[in-house]
Amino acid sequence: MNVPFLDLKRQYRSIKPEIDKAIADVVESQLFVMGPKLEELEKSFANYCGTKHATGANSGTSALHMALLALGVGEGDEVITCPNSFFATAEVITAVGARPAFADINPESFCMDADELRKKITQKTKAVIPVHLYGQTADMGPIMEVAEEKGLHVIEDACQAHGALYNGRKAGSFGIISCFSFYPGKNLGAYGDGGICVTSDPQLDEKLKLLRSHGESPKHTHRIPGFNFRLDEIQAAVLNVKLKHLDKWNDGRRKNARLYNELLKNPEIRLPKEMSYGKHVYHIYAVRSRKRDMLAAYVKERSVATGVHYPTPIHLQSAYSGLGCKEGSFPESENAAKEILSLPMFAELTEEEIGYVSDAINRFS
Ligand SMILES: *Cc1c(COP(=O)(O)O)cnc(C)c1O
Repeated sequence: MNVPFLDLKRQYRSIKPEIDKAIADVVESQLFVMGPKLEELEKSFANYCGTKHATGANSGTSALHMALLALGVGEGDEVITCPNSFFATAEVITAVGARPAFADINPESFCMDADELRKKITQKTKAVIPVHLYGQTADMGPIMEVAEEKGLHVIEDACQAHGALYNGRKAGSFGIISCFSFYPGKNLGAYGDGGICVTSDPQLDEKLKLLRSHGESPKHTHRIPGFNFRLDEIQAAVLNVKLKHLDKWNDGRRKNARLYNELLKNPEIRLPKEMSYGKHVYHIYAVRSRKRDMLAAYVKERSVATGVHYPTPIHLQSAYSGLGCKEGSFPESENAAKEILSLPMFAELTEEEIGYVSDAINRFS
């Protein structure tokens, strides 16, 4: 048996008539940019997250970039995030002229630890970007408390956590602005790049909408210098169809995670933990093993595809050698990077496939 890490074709086959019609509608209309599909998506995605507003963007990276600019973060400011995220989370801090700083993670959740955050705050700290890694939220209660006490903006990086819950509340409803990615492989993915910012602050929403499209409002009047960060109508049309299926697909991921949890019995590996505070939507199902590279090679020989998210913590990337971090600066993130292995995970994965993957892992010693 050959088990892919992710097979998007299975999802497409299950919704093909709806998707094909939605795309054909856009082509028929010849309205490709800033049209009714985007408006519909912004309304329904804000509603899904429990926020008042949303601003579509052309990627999760652009969404994070706009969020920092809308909050006035720039030169001379520091922004604290996690070292074990996708590179973009730190990159956007640099893009606005601010300095990325890091706080280590809670090794059980793989997400930012509020006590570590507190220790890293300086006079220059302006904002914090907790990352809801793998589909599980950070412990937002204590993080919001620290941020409030220190007067920091909180931007949630919810790029991996569409539909995740923290104490019954949706990921994306805590930060002053929260950002999602619609990269095809995410829990809610477009047919190309896409992203979105959500907020309940009308002034910030207005600012985001200006930044997204050349600071223009109304036409030919440019109020601020902005960007072309727009989400196109074909992507919005695809996302409008797929948003209606998201909860069902997240439930499928959770069911698959439960089956892995039952079947995996190798003492060499540790299973991911769903924290008591929330609902994990398993964008990634990451196990840990001290023999990670050998385990990955072993299952690859048995035609099981795996991944590592992420093998090099951001503070050790050569792009950030100038920040002065060393090996040992963030031990929990560094240990995780050496041990994590992401197993095949998507809603349409079959019981047979999960059984096959688990069996291959259980045979490893
Ligand atoms: C995917 C991702 C991003 C970037 O989103 P893009 O749409 O690829 O630009 C940022 N942060 C995290 C945690 C992500 O997983």
